[in-house]
Amino acid sequence: MLNSWVVMPTCLPLVLRRCHACTSERFRTSGKFRVNANHKLIDAWLLALCTGCGETAKLTVLERTNVRSVRPELLDRLHDNDPGLAADLLQDPVVRRRNRIALDWDDAWRLDTGGSDHLDLEVIDVSVRFAARIPVRPVRLIAEGCDLSRAEVERLITEGKLVSAVRLTGRLSGDFTFTLKR
Ligand SMILES: [Zn+2]
Repeated sequence: MLNSWVVMPTCLPLVLRRCHACTSERFRTSGKFRVNANHKLIDAWLLALCTGCGETAKLTVLERTNVRSVRPELLDRLHDNDPGLAADLLQDPVVRRRNRIALDWDDAWRLDTGGSDHLDLEVIDVSVRFAARIPVRPVRLIAEGCDLSRAEVERLITEGKLVSAVRLTGRLSGDFTFTLKR
């Protein structure tokens, strides 16, 4: 029987970036944007507040971009402070590189296993889907989803009772499947 698990974001991740005003390296964004249109050119930023001192950082979304080259749908979402847009932009590697930021997903996601029926089965096949590209350790996911300790999960991998086409001991942020035989 195939079980489906989902790694779900529960809020926006923290933005890792050094604050110029204090020693903090974490910013929290509420998903608000600032848009500045000047004739045909438009700038847009995603605002983030330092978790240490409250200083505002502006993460560049659009920089002196010809307004006609911007999709109207994107403009609407910027003006509406669309929370889904902030999530999409933070997951965009181009946006992250341009702003020299990384993301901290700790405490910003949960694992949905759809119940605990699978815990009694001797053999389970699980397909894990990522609703956002959240880097997590499969060992941690499997421990949580199967109610095992991480050491037990690592032992099952070593013993060949827990198998997957992907390497389960690193970090992943994309869909994978695994089989567990107890
Ligand atoms: Zn600060």
